[in-house]
Amino acid sequence: MYAARYYDRQNLKEYLATVWLQPGTLFVQIETEAGNQTLEWGASNLHSIETHPDGQVIVQNGKQFIEVKDLYFKADLERNFQGKKLGKRGFFDQIGLGGCLIGLLIVTLPFIAAYIWVIPTLANEAADKVPVDVEEKIGDTWFQALTAQYTIDSSRTRLIQEFYDSLHYGGAYDMRISLVNEPVVNAFAMPGGHIVVFDSILQIMDAPEQLAALLAHEASHVQLKHSTRAIFRKMATTIAIVTIFGDFRTVAGLIAQQSDELAGLSYSRTLEMEADAHGLALMEAQAIPQQGMPDLFRHMESTIPKETSNKIPNFLSTHPALEERIQTTEQVAKKTNQPGVVSPGLVRIWQQLKSK
Ligand SMILES: [Zn+2]
Repeated sequence: MYAARYYDRQNLKEYLATVWLQPGTLFVQIETEAGNQTLEWGASNLHSIETHPDGQVIVQNGKQFIEVKDLYFKADLERNFQGKKLGKRGFFDQIGLGGCLIGLLIVTLPFIAAYIWVIPTLANEAADKVPVDVEEKIGDTWFQALTAQYTIDSSRTRLIQEFYDSLHYGGAYDMRISLVNEPVVNAFAMPGGHIVVFDSILQIMDAPEQLAALLAHEASHVQLKHSTRAIFRKMATTIAIVTIFGDFRTVAGLIAQQSDELAGLSYSRTLEMEADAHGLALMEAQAIPQQGMPDLFRHMESTIPKETSNKIPNFLSTHPALEERIQTTEQVAKKTNQPGVVSPGLVRIWQQLKSK
């Protein structure tokens, strides 16, 4: 038997105690106000055993401690619990912070890899293989969901469609252009051939080749399947997240929710420049002055300071590096050096569009 002090940190009690050992058990008899009380601590209760240089041994069982000042106690204790696994330390105590981080990394790594590598790769592959009619169906669905929020200007939609058709840009897609009345300088393309032009962007243009440039750029997003890839990626990510974390019933909800975000589908700088270059090629093939593209970007750029901070123009924020794109497209236009006129047919439609 050893004389000890017992501390209960939870109830802030301290008692004199007597401890003794029996194989596999440490008995702690405490002298409380209500009389003696005997506690039995098994190996699994012993969370830690600390020995101080002066021979003091502190044994912890959760929030209870005993302190024994006896040089032999520790050896006795160890002999008594020999071969037994002491304590039930928390998972975190056992593996430490480093272990936790490594564990977390091991658990999340496949998801991170899926997010940054597998999903984009699969989405790109799927987008490359998807037939045009499937892209059209996807685009139509998104178009319906999205345009429900906009006011479509039907008479100018007819005109802008006529304008686009007169450009003869060609390609595998049946392009359908819609003009909507919205105060934001924006335009975007959907898989399969829907292009939505906000009338505010039309207002900042002052020549038909600028509209031809905008449509060439957006048509390029469709033809290069940029929007299809972006949507596949978004959907794949959503489906992956839902598959990993839960409820399949929310998939439909999440996809519906994302239809709003389509208007803000953002492309990387690389894809934007790719759409610019492809658009310039479409323009050149139809002898449309390429200068329309850098001119359009300049007009867009000039609208930036006028916009209030709470109404950041989508088209501008999602079309990065405007200055760089102005320089690049300007260079191409200078090199091609086309005559700066468009056909009288296009001019006529352009004037009608602008006069409304
Ligand atoms: Zn774009």
